[in-house]
Parts: sequence; C-alpha cells; structure tokens
Amino acid sequence: MTETVGVVAEDWLLGAELAPAVDGDPLAPLYSGAADGLLVLPFCPACGLALELEQRVCDGCATTGADWRPVDPRGTVHSVTMVHRLERGLVRARAPYPVADVEMAGGHRLVLTSLEPLPHPPAIGDAVSIGFRRLGDVAVPAFTARTTPHGEREDP
Ligand SMILES: [Zn+2]
Repeated sequence: MTETVGVVAEDWLLGAELAPAVDGDPLAPLYSGAADGLLVLPFCPACGLALELEQRVCDGCATTGADWRPVDPRGTVHSVTMVHRLERGLVRARAPYPVADVEMAGGHRLVLTSLEPLPHPPAIGDAVSIGFRRLGDVAVPAFTARTTPHGEREDP
C-alpha cells in the first residue's frame, strides 16, 4: 500500500472509513469544533444545564433544543473499561484498549477512548484532558493524561 500526499496520519484504533458522517449528523457542532481543536458540547438553551450529546429535552426545565458551546477540556476519570476485542478489518488495535467515562469540569460526561494506545488503563479519579484523534478528515474527542509543565501527572 502506498501513502498519498495529503493523507493525515492513521488513527491507532479505527480506519478512516469508519469516520462519522458529519453533514447532517446531530453531533455536527461537536465535529466542527473538534476540527478547530475545541471541545464543543451541548447545553440547555434556557437554563444552561449540561446536556448529554444527543439529549434535546432538558432534564431541568423541559426546554427543547441545544446550545453548543466550547467547554473546559479538563475532566476526571469516573470509570474505565479495557476492551479486549480483536476485530480484523474494523479495530486496528492489537492489544486491549481503554474506554473511559470522563466527568468534565463543566458537568458533561463523555465516554471515549484514549488519544494514544495505552497498555494500562487510567485509574478512577485520574486527571485527564480531552484531545482529538483523526479519522480521515474528522476529528473525534479522546482523553489523555493531564500533566504539569514538568511532565508529572496533575491532580484532578
Ligand atoms: Zn433547561
């Protein structure tokens, strides 16, 4: 297989053909923000409560709709699962990989995998930050350990 000029580096987990369709997707604002390196998440347009990604009726005030805004990309690991699944042609990873439920500083919860392959899962309560993996032309959020400027792990 030859590399084509202009093709971005391949993701460690999934092939570019598995990139989500962005146009018309309910999560289009998330992908649009991610393309600019911003984590953009939905809030209730009336009371400002953090909404789940596909939630369109607020649990707090029953208002319909979502107001997408950039948020603080810091969070802490609430739970983590190591996925042991070898699926040729779908999953590229050759080793188990983590999927974490991350509590974001602004109240959202995100379930996502890591920015890079991780041989060991993060610990519950670990401080993480959200970065972006690239699937073809689409950027998707992923967690990475939050470190201090000296490279040490940061406390949540
Ligand atoms: Zn509301």
